[in-house]
Amino acid sequence: MTAAKPGDSVEVVTSEETIKGTLLQTPELEKGVVIIKLSSGYNIGISKDKIKKIALLPQQRKEEQIEKAVAAAKEKTQRKLPKISILHTGGTIASKVDYRTGGVVARFTPQEILEMFPELKEIAEIDSRLIRNMWSEDMRFAHYNIMAKEAAKEAAKGADGVIITHGTDTLHYSSAALAFALEGIGIPVILVGAQRSSDRGSTDAATNLISAAYFIANSDFAGVAICMHENMSDSSSLILPATKARKMHTSRRDAFRPINSTATARIDYEGRNIAFLAKDHPKKDKARKLQLRLFNEKLKIGILKTHPNMYTEEFAAYQKFDGLVIEGFALGQAPINQVDEFTTEHKRILAAIAALCKKMPVAMASQSIYGRLQMNVYSTARDLQAAGVIGNLSDMTPETTFVKLAWLLSNYKKAEVKELITKNLRGEISERTEPAAFLV
Ligand code: ASP
Repeated sequence: MTAAKPGDSVEVVTSEETIKGTLLQTPELEKGVVIIKLSSGYNIGISKDKIKKIALLPQQRKEEQIEKAVAAAKEKTQRKLPKISILHTGGTIASKVDYRTGGVVARFTPQEILEMFPELKEIAEIDSRLIRNMWSEDMRFAHYNIMAKEAAKEAAKGADGVIITHGTDTLHYSSAALAFALEGIGIPVILVGAQRSSDRGSTDAATNLISAAYFIANSDFAGVAICMHENMSDSSSLILPATKARKMHTSRRDAFRPINSTATARIDYEGRNIAFLAKDHPKKDKARKLQLRLFNEKLKIGILKTHPNMYTEEFAAYQKFDGLVIEGFALGQAPINQVDEFTTEHKRILAAIAALCKKMPVAMASQSIYGRLQMNVYSTARDLQAAGVIGNLSDMTPETTFVKLAWLLSNYKKAEVKELITKNLRGEISERTEPAAFLV
């Protein structure tokens, strides 16, 4: 169809439009598509059947190549680029549209991802590999251990930072898991996802990935965090606290919000600016000793959301589990009061909860998402505490409570778990409830 090679500046003429940009490597699984990098930084996939002509832009190509070679040579002599390892786990960020079915399925290889975002190589020396190839909805504790071990391996090899690409659906569970597992890590480990696959013009992968790399290369931050879009435009990304963030929209590119917290930092990659928004953050120290504290992959931990018209069986189903999070109402309530002839079931529910508490830690979290548990206000929550439910005064999300409970049970004795669940270990519990941290 054309003599143009990946990296060439081209003009693609279709029946509808003419698109100028840099020709990228066609992914192995998508031979029917030509991918072009636009000057805006976006990549666009154009179905080959629509293309009338691909013309080389020789003049522009030559100039660009000279410019790039000069810049690269200058860069090399001026500074040594930091080393960033990108560990891919799959998710939409590594996926592309299958133009036959219209669904998002096939996956890019790590090499293809690097070729799509050449800016990354200007920010850091990139090492990139695939550690899993999955949707994040399938993640289990074993995958938290794989990610933690691989990130620790990269740190031991001397990486200045690690980026983990991940599906967005459970990204906030994984970020919390890694924050607990990578105790004392002296380099940044940034989780990045995308709500639109990397071959789409509207993909958020470029901004999120490049911003994460830029943040690693140009800030003193260490520890685990998330990097995702701040708003609907591509102008800025946010660094979000690993244990206090959540996917709050099914599809928007700015779906991830800080919960009961502010964002850690804002990155304006175009303006080359990083603004720290949190008062403090852990600082880089490659010499700091990392303690790898993994998850017990056999643990069974549940999350049970309270709702009107509950039945005892819902609680009894967890009898053989090792721990349970009750996602209760607001300040920490559950339907346990017999108030009339229609609520006799509630007495049995309280008994079932008390029985569970004798066997395992049962921690409360609020389905209100924002705010703090206060289980001393109403008699309901006081009764739950008397039955053995723990977690009072926590402002953790249900997801972080779940991950923390699993991690505590993996690493501590039961009595310690009960004490540590409400102790702040990784920024997961805020000291004060800041009004500005609501609906940020
Ligand atoms: N279901 C996908 C996942 O979490 C969605 C995404 O990556 O955004 O892996």
